[in-house]
Amino acid sequence: MNIGIIGGGQLARMMMLAGYPLGFRFVALDPAANACAAPLGKLIQADYDDERALRELAAWADVVTFEFENVPDKSLRFLSEHLPVFPPAHALSLSQDRLKEKELFRELGIPTPKFKAVDCLSDLTTASDEFGLPLILKTRKLGYDGKGQIRIHSRDAMASACEILGKTGLIVEEFVRFEREVSIIAVRSRAGHPGYYPLSENTHGDGILRWALSRPEDPKQSIAEQYIDRILARLDYVGILALELFERNGELLANEIAPRVHNSGHWTIEGAEISQFENHLRAVAGLPTGSTAAKGYSAMVNFIGALPAKSAVLAHPEIHFHAYGKDPRPGRKVGHATVNASSLAQLHNQIKGLLEISGASNPNELETPRCGSDRSSS
Ligand code: AMP
Repeated sequence: MNIGIIGGGQLARMMMLAGYPLGFRFVALDPAANACAAPLGKLIQADYDDERALRELAAWADVVTFEFENVPDKSLRFLSEHLPVFPPAHALSLSQDRLKEKELFRELGIPTPKFKAVDCLSDLTTASDEFGLPLILKTRKLGYDGKGQIRIHSRDAMASACEILGKTGLIVEEFVRFEREVSIIAVRSRAGHPGYYPLSENTHGDGILRWALSRPEDPKQSIAEQYIDRILARLDYVGILALELFERNGELLANEIAPRVHNSGHWTIEGAEISQFENHLRAVAGLPTGSTAAKGYSAMVNFIGALPAKSAVLAHPEIHFHAYGKDPRPGRKVGHATVNASSLAQLHNQIKGLLEISGASNPNELETPRCGSDRSSS
């Protein structure tokens, strides 16, 4: 089976690595000649809305998937007319609009931070009366990794925030003082069978995921499964879906969905029976999906900006090293490492070691109760 992937970044690369043992062949559509998935498959180098390129992709592939949310909606709908596309185009359009996403959460009875669609500036003043300060102002579309959003701490800062983000097409949210951020990753086969990975507990810095850890018995597992299940069913979903949530006072609040394989699930490559990448491919290819069970405690640390020396990482025999073949650049995800452990304490030490190796500015931030504490069970 030939699988087409829109986007040729590291997620496409990891899908390809997972798909070769199953006998799949791959083609990626990406504007960059040096896309990091290019060495592993065929590359169609063109813009995402190039009709000729989309036709070539449709001719070559048996099924199409995508690795990022900002695929032009029109391109996916065009492809959907020619061959199966999973996850479905309507799930992608939903994820492209933060307002529609949050309206869906509300409709499905999934708690979410208070939010409001706004056209600056008077709406913002009303929101601050209702929600209090600080607020988070976000563009409804095209935001990622913390981009397209501004925290507003005072009324005086509202006008400039509106100026920076544009005056329409915005959503404002209450600022959630969460205890932790988690994500649940689920897979649903074409036959409609769901599977859920253990929750990932995620720590961000500057809007970018720094590390994620997963333990077998997270106290919020069952409620997170119920929430994502409602979304899977409503969207008649196929493939991997990630749901990002905040935990505040023991309650989960849904922030957003990602209809694709997800950075917080990279630990599944070595930490779960079947990785998110393989399960995504199995689902889109119409095959039975495999076990989402974890082998124990697992973590993933992103390498951001530049890779650490490979020899320094590999000097630790338990660490799995992943390089994406990307040039170094500040703020860019260029690779990651994963570790498995038999206890939370052991995992904690391994993450700390990895952060030190990767040159993270303050590995001691792990000593705060953020990572892996059991406070949410209270
Ligand atoms: P997003 O682009 O919505 O995923 O936001 C990026 C990051 O900003 C999240 O992972 C959170 O750390 C933070 N964030 C987003 N929305 C809120 C909110 N309403 N309250 C507090 N922090 C938020």
